[in-house]
Amino acid sequence: MLPIVLYPHPSLRFKARRVTRVTDTLRQQATEMFESMYDANGIGLAAPQVALPYQMFILNTAGDPEQKDLEKVILNPEILEKTGTAEGQEGCLSFPELFQKVRRAKTIRVKYQTLEGLEVEEALTGLHAKAFQHEYDHLHGVLFIDKLGPIGKMAARGAIASFERLHLQDQKKGEIPTDAELLARLEELAQLA
Ligand SMILES: [Zn+2]
Repeated sequence: MLPIVLYPHPSLRFKARRVTRVTDTLRQQATEMFESMYDANGIGLAAPQVALPYQMFILNTAGDPEQKDLEKVILNPEILEKTGTAEGQEGCLSFPELFQKVRRAKTIRVKYQTLEGLEVEEALTGLHAKAFQHEYDHLHGVLFIDKLGPIGKMAARGAIASFERLHLQDQKKGEIPTDAELLARLEELAQLA
C-alpha cells in the first residue's frame, strides 16, 4: 500500500508528467493505489497523492472493493468539453475531514488512455463527472481548496493552517523529509515517466 500524502506535501503542487509507457511498475502502483484508496474510504485517488508525479488517477465511484467493474485507471486525461454547472460537497484524501462546496461542470466530455493501451473518449455526468474533474485537477497541481468561494475559503482557513502547521512540525521532528528533499525525489521520479 502506498501512503497518501497530506497537504501541503509538495507533490500536491507538482505538475505530473504524461505517462509515455505502461510498465509493470506502473501497473503495480495502480494496484497499490486502489488498496490505499479503499483503506481511506475514498472514491478517487491521483498519483500525486501518493507522491508519484505521473498523469494517472484511479476511480471507483462506489468506493467498494467488491465492485471491481467500477474500477477505472485513467492515464493522460484531457477534458475536451464542459457543460452546465453543478455545486456539491467535496472532500479530498489529502485533507482529512475537510469538506466544502465546490462548483464544477455538470457534464464533461473526456479523453484518456487505459493501462491496456486503449484510447477512450466518453461523456460523464453526476458523480462520475465530479470525481473525474477533482482527480484531473490533482495532475495539474490544482486542489479543491483553490476552487472554494469566498465563504468556503473563510470556513476552511483554520483547517488549512493546521495542516500546514502539522507538516512543519513533522519536518522539524524529522518524521518527513524537508520540502527540498521531497522535491528532489519528485524530479527523480518524473524522469522515469
Ligand atoms: Zn483530492
